[in-house]
Amino acid sequence: MLSLIVSVVTAATLVVVMLGTRLGFWVALPDDAVFVLIIALIGGGMAGLVFWLLAGCVHDGDLNKLIRHVESFSRADSANPPYRPNIWVRPLVDAVDRCLGTFRQRVDSLQAQRRELEIQARIADAERQHVEAILHSIADAVIVTDAFNELAIANDAAARVLDFDLTDARHRPVDRVVPDSKLVKLIKDTRESGNRMNRRHVEHRVEADGRTDYYDVTLNCVTNQQEEVAGVVTILHDVTKEREISEMKSDFVSSVSHELRTPLSSIKAYVEMLVDGEANDEQTRTEFYNIIQSETNRLSRLIDNILNISRIESGIVKINREHISLPAVIKEVIDVMLPQAHAKQIELIARETPLFYQVYADKDMVYQAVLNLVGNAIKYTPVGGSVSLDTEVDDHQRVVTVNVSDTGVGIPADAVPHLFQKFYRVAVHKKIAKGTGLGLNLVKHIVETVHGGEVSVASEVGKGSTFSFSLPISDGTL
Ligand code: ADP
Repeated sequence: MLSLIVSVVTAATLVVVMLGTRLGFWVALPDDAVFVLIIALIGGGMAGLVFWLLAGCVHDGDLNKLIRHVESFSRADSANPPYRPNIWVRPLVDAVDRCLGTFRQRVDSLQAQRRELEIQARIADAERQHVEAILHSIADAVIVTDAFNELAIANDAAARVLDFDLTDARHRPVDRVVPDSKLVKLIKDTRESGNRMNRRHVEHRVEADGRTDYYDVTLNCVTNQQEEVAGVVTILHDVTKEREISEMKSDFVSSVSHELRTPLSSIKAYVEMLVDGEANDEQTRTEFYNIIQSETNRLSRLIDNILNISRIESGIVKINREHISLPAVIKEVIDVMLPQAHAKQIELIARETPLFYQVYADKDMVYQAVLNLVGNAIKYTPVGGSVSLDTEVDDHQRVVTVNVSDTGVGIPADAVPHLFQKFYRVAVHKKIAKGTGLGLNLVKHIVETVHGGEVSVASEVGKGSTFSFSLPISDGTL
């Protein structure tokens, strides 16, 4: 404003000086002085004008507007009134606008990229959790190590089988986490062999709590896009049970073939002697007939055991239930087994219960269960021992229990839990007698699967065993 006043006053003074000169007011003054005065006035006026113009282009109000305009970009304030700069600052404002426009585009694109990355991170996180959930639900032990031999991920089964704590295991060197040095070496070797050996199968033993478990270990070398080793996936599949079953099966096949061959050879031999007329007298013939009969019974018992187990297991067994008296069944079994007991000078005793209850059961099956228990008792009792049978009634539980006790070799405590498994035979008993490991499994099936009863055993090595089974009392009390 001041510069404008200066310009106007200078212009007015100039006009006055020029008019005065023209009218001869300044005759006293020399021409040069008037000329200098005029030039000074023109210069001062122009300087005032230029100063006014420059001051006018960037005065405080404009600066504040410009600052607000720039700030509105940073706030993305659409409510801000549009800014109309004057002609002097417009190029500057345009340049700033262009710059800010480019800047805003970059910010928008970076924000879009950030949103995209956030979504991808969430998807990756969900996928990781999904993979972890799958890993933890797998029964096989799984360990994943990275290119630096550090544990990247492992499941609960791995922690249990290899005995390490999963909570602080991640990103630690695998040899500090997994105590099994042989397995750690396998992992390291697989990583070092890289692409040369993509997948390895190794049988591995894990010793823990005094027992040995067998694992089928698969080691898989994982490579990245540049074909560099990114890590190793190790899977341990427990094959202990399968090994046991396959051992039991091969034992079973050799036992069954022996069990079948022995009575068959004996029957064949006695029949041939009878055909050849080698049994001259009636007494010898009767003796031969008895042997043939007993060997045939042995054969049929073995075949019955095998068939009955498979029938019960496949659910196609026909059950004929009736009200039966257990002491009567016991008596029948004793009659059949007496010759076998006498052959070993074993006393076979039935302690009769005067008052007894009936059970609603399949008589043939219960007979088979008692027969198997008595057969075992005689088989695993040394010459001169005794086998006794009795029944007891539990009125409260409403069950009748049959006990078969012997004074035999007894059973080691660690074998007891396995006795009723199919094909199981106590190792030390294999030398004492031949067998198939099916008899007790059939007893368990008959009592528990078919009749809803219960089997149990109490035994002491060197003293003897008592096998018991209970069946629910039927309503038809005698
Ligand atoms: P097996 O044909 O071998 O006798 P079982 O299933 O009847 O098959 O019995 C399984 C195992 O249990 C036998 O091999 C034996 O080791 C043990 N066992 C069964 N009964 C007796 C018993 N009374 N005394 C000692 N051991 C027994």
